[in-house]
Formats: sequence, structure tokens, C-alpha cells
Amino acid sequence: MTAQKIQFSFELFPPRTPAGWDKLPALASALAAVQPAFFSVTYGAGGSEQNGTYDTLIRVVEQTGIETAPHLTCIGSTRARIGALLDQYRAAGVTRIVALRGDLPATAASSEAPGELRYASELVAFIRETHGDHFTLEVAAYPEMHPQAANPDADFDAFRRKIDAGADGAVTQYFFTAEAYFDFVERCTRAGITVPIVPGIMPITNHAQLTRFSAACGADIPRWIRLRLEQYQDDKAALQDFGLEVVARLCRALLDNGAPGLHFYTLNQAEPTLRLWQHLGLPTPTGS
Ligand code: FAD
Repeated sequence: MTAQKIQFSFELFPPRTPAGWDKLPALASALAAVQPAFFSVTYGAGGSEQNGTYDTLIRVVEQTGIETAPHLTCIGSTRARIGALLDQYRAAGVTRIVALRGDLPATAASSEAPGELRYASELVAFIRETHGDHFTLEVAAYPEMHPQAANPDADFDAFRRKIDAGADGAVTQYFFTAEAYFDFVERCTRAGITVPIVPGIMPITNHAQLTRFSAACGADIPRWIRLRLEQYQDDKAALQDFGLEVVARLCRALLDNGAPGLHFYTLNQAEPTLRLWQHLGLPTPTGS
């Protein structure tokens, strides 16, 4: 696989504080220096932070000139609201969207769920119906299974429905076992699914946060990693050095064995992703 074909992307979330907004231009510039193929900006399902996605996107594009894809969720929403957002994004020049079902925030009233479109496959179909091929659509994939799925086969069928509905590619939930990703890709190949499936990469920088996220999203932290993180939880430098080695080794295994790119969950921190980038010896454009 040639270097040009490999696609790197960086995920951001809308800042939650005035200080976070102040730091956004520097964050975007620092990450843009290595020229990712695109940025993506998460979207709070069920009402939280939703305007923030648009505002973040506009600022990142203005700051960097790099394509930026909004995440768009359907849970708790209506066709009319989603349609209005799609029009807004299209008018702003957006051509790529990460289409998701989303999770309702814990604070949402049960009356808000589930919305007119129940699954991401229905959202993909709706976008295709209303906007044809205007948008490149990415969807989520779960090599270790989505936590609410009945079983791995049912989850795989749900994934296939998103591709059949018109998704162009997928980004995975993060994982630390390369074999889970390659097994998923092999299942896709056997099922005739040929779209790029880009691994989602979570840099390891904080033991408590990683444990919380992983419990919520169903990502497995292998025992040997968990034990080392527990040991280093009060030694930030040791934890981050260990995390860098583990995640860099994972990225190398993924790229060496044919992954079509990497999507970094930056958590709005440039340094962990850029450290990984340097450690992996990924291309750094001249002058950055
Ligand atoms: P779906 O593909 O619809 O699947 C959801 C569940 O329903 C799965 O268990 C699936 O097996 C099941 N299912 C699907 N179709 C059917 C069917 N027809 N019948 C029965 N069961 C079915 N969340 C946010 O709120 N905002 C974000 O910005 C965001 N960004 C993300 C980015 C990435 C790369 C990833 C991997 C996840 C992201 N998430 C985000 C989290 C995501 O919204 C949750 O994981 C959510 O629970 C599922 O979304 P989905 O699009 O995978 O849903």
C-alpha cells in the first residue's frame, strides 16, 4: 500500500468552556501541521452541544482550510430537524458527514427517545434520499461489538445495513487488540463489503478517563494493559510513555497489515496524537 492511499483523520469535539473555545485555533493549527485528510467534529445526541458542532466546524475550516466533517446523530430527532441541519451543512460547503445513531445523554427525558429515525442505517438512507451522492458518508463500526447489540452476528448485520443504505466508509470504535479489527475486516471481505474501514485510535493518557470511556462504549482493555495502567496511574509520565508504546505498536501493526488509514480520537489535545504521529514516523510536511 502506498503512502498516498493511507488516510489519516483527527476527531475533535465542540469545546465546552470559553477557555476551550479560545484554545481551538491553536489546537486546530497544531494538528493541521501534519495535514490530515480531514477533521471530524462530534455531535451531542439529544440536544447537548449541537450548535457547537457547526460553530467548531466553521472555525476549524477557517483556521486550517482542511476539510471538516460533522458527526450527525438521529436519536431523539426528527426528519425535519435533520433535514434542516443537512441543508445548513451543505450551504457551508460540507461534503462529508459521519452518520450515527447516537446515544441520548443520561439527562434526557425518556420521552425524547427514540426519534423518527431509529438506527444509523435509516439516517444514511434518509441522507441518500434527500441529498443523493452529495455527501461522502462515514458510519461507525464495532470490531468488539456495539454494547447494545444482541450478539456479534446481529451487530454485523446492522453494520451491513449501513453499507447497503449507502455509506462510503466506516470508522471503528477504538480497540487495543489488532486481531479484533482484522477479524472484522475479514468478515466484511467475506460478506462482499469493500468500503474502507478505518481504525479509530485512542491515545492513552489518563487511566480513569480511559476506564470510564471503555466501560461505556464496550472497548476491551486487555488485562496486561489494564494492570500496567493501574500501576502507573499516579505517575503521569510513566503512564503516558507506556500508553505511547502500546498505541504506537497497535498503529504500526494495523498499518503494516493493510489498514487503509487511522482516525485519531484527539480529545481536543494535540500533543498525544502528535507524539504518536512522530513515534510512528508518519509524514510531516516540510516546514511544520
Ligand atoms: P447503529 O448502527 O444504529 O447501531 C446501534 C445499535 O442498534 C447496535 O447495537 C446495533 O447492533 C443495533 N441495530 C442497528 N440496526 C438495527 C436493527 N435494524 N434492528 C435491531 N438492532 C439494530 N455518539 C454521539 O452521540 N455523537 C458523536 O459524535 C459520536 N461519534 C462517534 C464516532 C465514531 C467513529 C464512533 C464509533 C461512535 C460515535 N458515537 C457518537 C457513538 C455512537 O453514537 C454510539 O456508539 C451509538 O450507541 C451507536 O451509534 P451507531 O451509529 O453505531 O448506531
